[in-house]
Amino acid sequence: MTAPIRYFIRPSRPEAHVFELRCTVSDPDPAGQRFSLPAWIPGSYMIREFARHVVSLRAESGGKAAKVEKLDKHTWLVTGLVAGKPLTVFYEVYAWDLSVRAAHLDQTHGFFNGTSVFLAVEGRTDRPCLVEIESPEGMAYRDWKVATALPRARGEIGAALAYGFGLYRAENYDELVDHPVEMGTFTLAGFEAGGVRHDIVLTGRHDCDTERLAADLEHICQFQIELFGAPPPMDYYVFLTQLVGDGYGGLEHRASTALLASRADLPWKGMTGLPDGYKTFLGLCSHEYFHTWNVKRIKPAAFVPYDLAVENYTRLLWAFEGFTSYYDDLVLVRSGVISPADYLGLVGKTVSAVLRGPGRHRQSVAESSFEAWSKYYRQDENSPNAIVSYYAKGSLIALALDLQLRSETGGKRSLDDVMRLLWQRHGQTGVGVAEDGIFAIVEEVGGKDCGARLARWLRKAVEGTDDLPLARLLKPFGVAYQPEAPGAKPTLGIKLAGGNGKGEAKIATAYDGGAAQLAGLSAGDVLLAIDGLKVSAANLDSMLERHQAGDSIEVHAFRRDELMCFDVELAAAASDAVKLAVDEKAAASVRRLRKGWLGH
Ligand SMILES: [Zn+2]
Repeated sequence: MTAPIRYFIRPSRPEAHVFELRCTVSDPDPAGQRFSLPAWIPGSYMIREFARHVVSLRAESGGKAAKVEKLDKHTWLVTGLVAGKPLTVFYEVYAWDLSVRAAHLDQTHGFFNGTSVFLAVEGRTDRPCLVEIESPEGMAYRDWKVATALPRARGEIGAALAYGFGLYRAENYDELVDHPVEMGTFTLAGFEAGGVRHDIVLTGRHDCDTERLAADLEHICQFQIELFGAPPPMDYYVFLTQLVGDGYGGLEHRASTALLASRADLPWKGMTGLPDGYKTFLGLCSHEYFHTWNVKRIKPAAFVPYDLAVENYTRLLWAFEGFTSYYDDLVLVRSGVISPADYLGLVGKTVSAVLRGPGRHRQSVAESSFEAWSKYYRQDENSPNAIVSYYAKGSLIALALDLQLRSETGGKRSLDDVMRLLWQRHGQTGVGVAEDGIFAIVEEVGGKDCGARLARWLRKAVEGTDDLPLARLLKPFGVAYQPEAPGAKPTLGIKLAGGNGKGEAKIATAYDGGAAQLAGLSAGDVLLAIDGLKVSAANLDSMLERHQAGDSIEVHAFRRDELMCFDVELAAAASDAVKLAVDEKAAASVRRLRKGWLGH
């Protein structure tokens, strides 16, 4: 058996946000051993160069200092090794990124992703790994516990202690960095689904009704397990949740997820109804959990294996993120956690968001996937004019595909069959999905009824920039697609930096071809007055309401520190707000089709 790579990590100086680490290789490459940190973390398609937070690094071989040379932004070469002796690298990592993507440490808790802290031992990344996770020193930390889906090392002292510090293991480096770790005095709740224990870890102040949360998550997880087929592909799962005043984010892993959420979005004791914030949080949990199958195990071939040093390009994120975004809210309604009316409200919001972006006519979701690294993840003031979201439009393509499969096979086939076939062919086998692999699966599922036609339709939808025919596709399900009447209110064609609330009226985006852009106003300009009267984010709408489309107004604005004046001809607001509504009086056959889709 090959000797494992041994890691050691300790929050050595929580107040300075510093983790102390060691990595020991028993049989390093005698000619010189390379170590590296990933440039990105799977699930978040952006080069982040985690090695920039390594603040010191030295090496020892056989008790003597070895030579360390930096080869590039994230690779170190260690030479001058004593023959036949183990090599240990000692280093520190600065951790002050309160997100789900990196590492964070202070006196209240510690969190890390392996991609931010564990050096890869090049040429030996297939070796088993042993990780000793140690508590910070001092009485202040005596109640700290550990939460992670990393398994405990068997046969080691303390292996039986759940949530304890001590020794953990992974089969290889890829697995090591796919299990984030939380430590601190978190709240713990849990439930069982598909015969598997699921934990909910809540870090940060909260007044959560954990029983309610556990009950709702149990429905969601159980439903997804049955959708793909029990048993689930992991033997333990944990939702690692960091609660803050205002935040939102999630990152999927093979047996856990890291979440960042607003504490106000959690359910509280005595809560009535289903507040929007809680729906959002459940949707986030459902989304990340669905990834346990779709992207963590059913993967694009381009991710098999991941190359963590450079961008990994695929045109398929519309299937891995878009389909997951479709199922996240759909599972809420099908598992009975939200009502069909709530669900259709959420879909209406997604449709409206997609229709608001002129960029949807410039970029397809296949291109958006491919360019995620440089465009979707690096958005600026022009992004709404230039790009489309493979999440939002991808979810609408999934919706359109599901509706067609169901209506054209009389409810016998659906997108569920596509997901199950992907799971059997790719998830269970580990064979990556080729760039045109989804089309072939859809053709097979649609069969002689509609397979070839739907495969062609899907290719055109993901490679083209046309709007989707949702009104027509929803009709056989007794769901009305109701666009808001256009032209009622005049508009400047801008998005404000802080929304239409308090504070100054600063332009975040001037939409392409909008009234503001045509008059010369730009992103970053701060509107000061309309026709000589002071304007702010709070009163902009009410000032515009008094006008008609076609009216000219005089707008004063600051561009940087220069006062400028613009003559703006107001335009009619585009029809971009859509509502979806159930037709309660639909015929029995229509209601049956809808019940098959929404479960009600
Ligand atoms: Zn996702």
